Amino acid sequence: MDFAPTASITGLASAAELPKCNACHKAPVTNAGYSTCRPCRDKRNEMKKRSQQKKREQKFRLLQAIAGSDNIPFPAPRPTEKSASAGKKRKAPEDEESLADALERMRKRFKKMEAFTKVDVASKSPPVATPEPVFKKFVSAGDLHKTIKRRYPDNSNSLRFYGTYAIIALPDVDNKHRARQVARDLRDNTTLHFNLENKESYRNGTAYTIHYKCTCRASSIKRTASDLSLYFGSKNKTASEETPKSECRGRIEICAEDDRSHPQGWLGQRVKVTITHPKKI
Ligand SMILES: [Zn+2]
Ligand SMILES: [Zn+2]
Repeated sequence: MDFAPTASITGLASAAELPKCNACHKAPVTNAGYSTCRPCRDKRNEMKKRSQQKKREQKFRLLQAIAGSDNIPFPAPRPTEKSASAGKKRKAPEDEESLADALERMRKRFKKMEAFTKVDVASKSPPVATPEPVFKKFVSAGDLHKTIKRRYPDNSNSLRFYGTYAIIALPDVDNKHRARQVARDLRDNTTLHFNLENKESYRNGTAYTIHYKCTCRASSIKRTASDLSLYFGSKNKTASEETPKSECRGRIEICAEDDRSHPQGWLGQRVKVTITHPKKI
């Protein structure tokens, strides 16, 4: 028989002999072992890859939901990870990707996104050398609130509070939004008084800082004034007339900045809260 070898050499004849692709029913399969043509197989692989990526993102969102929306604490470092995994790479099959791996992948992506914005921020603001106060580290925002509530108000002592905590950075909450969120949370969860709208803010590198003036006196006068006007039935004197001279020198400063200190390379958001308040009379 000399027909078969000739057919395989010409190629055209051999392609015609192969069955049609299972997916498109037009092109012949690439070789007898496959049921689809190459373009169809490429397309299918691409879709598979995309759906795996989607699954990973869903996993991340799920973790976010479990951890209480967007205040995911910085994960504790895993000190022995590198040495432990050096011998055995991974046991789990490809698609059984662990949560940690999924997060790791997300983190890398955020870092890339962030690298772009970093360039133009850095070029705008020259580094300013200011002596850094020592910030006491807290595990979470709630932890920090508790301490502030315990220490403020203290009528017989002035207050100097420096507190900090870190959380996992999320792609849709930049440092500016984080700082504002921290301010709202502070106001809602502590005894501090300040006007969220009356603020000064500035950027320095990745850091976004907001200053608020303490309004503790204004708020106590407001109460007194309304009590008095209620008592005398007078509506002429409003509480706002009293506020200018009643401002105390208390300051609340909130800063949110990128945190790359985590040994496993998690991108974090570091929150710093500074409160300076004079002794109350
Ligand atoms: Zn096909
Ligand atoms: Zn005050």
